Amino acid sequence: MRTPLIAGNWKMNGSMSLIEDFGRKFSDATLSEAVKVVVIPPFPYLEAARQAFRDTPLALGAQTLNPADSGAHTGEVSGRMLTELNATYVLVGHSERRELYGESDEQVFDRLLAALSVGLVPILCVGESLEERDAGRTMDVVLRQVGYAMARLDPEQRQKVVIAYEPVWAIGTGRTATPEQAQEVMAGIRAYQAEFNTTLAEQLTLLYGGSMNVKNAAELLAQPDIDGGLVGGASLKTDDFFAICQSAG
Ligand code: PEP
Repeated sequence: MRTPLIAGNWKMNGSMSLIEDFGRKFSDATLSEAVKVVVIPPFPYLEAARQAFRDTPLALGAQTLNPADSGAHTGEVSGRMLTELNATYVLVGHSERRELYGESDEQVFDRLLAALSVGLVPILCVGESLEERDAGRTMDVVLRQVGYAMARLDPEQRQKVVIAYEPVWAIGTGRTATPEQAQEVMAGIRAYQAEFNTTLAEQLTLLYGGSMNVKNAAELLAQPDIDGGLVGGASLKTDDFFAICQSAG
């Protein structure tokens, strides 16, 4: 049995008051224990979130990390630093990092390895552009991104990775993949994983990301290969995000 996971990616948004609001909401209201929830704010808010989320079931995550442990990397943050702030998850290869900051599959893999080496759970983000979907290349692109990383990991490492399928055309656009479109790709990712090991494939947590919201979450989460969501815009509204978490529990 896979435990549903809802991850809220705040991107470069949020504020100290939103952190406090989340702390209040998730400590006052009861969330099913059958769902895991992680909030992923920008780096400067991690310490405040660590404190505000103490009496809540919320885990903490970060949006990226540098592969190095320390050194002359101005502006960067290492995995070790994130663990010191009690972060337990980290996004790697978000499409905005791939597109805006030119992160290649190789660089994404280096980050993924760095995350695993300090005990962070990497959420590996993959997904095709609209052009790639229209050209019928969705599965090629997604399995290239998944395969580049997974084929280089040993079985023990592989079982620690969460994969988020996020069609790029659905991120921040309000245009969600249909549950059938998402299910088709995610079943393909699980089948790919099964080529390495069927047990690990069954255990693999797969998230859907791309304009998930209060209205469409339940239907997406009802798909057999969708174990949770990576939520951007809707994770900035406390009540909406809480409702999405409830629909996963
Ligand atoms: C994301 O940031 O990964 C994301 C899916 O954003 P949104 O939910 O806003 O599409």
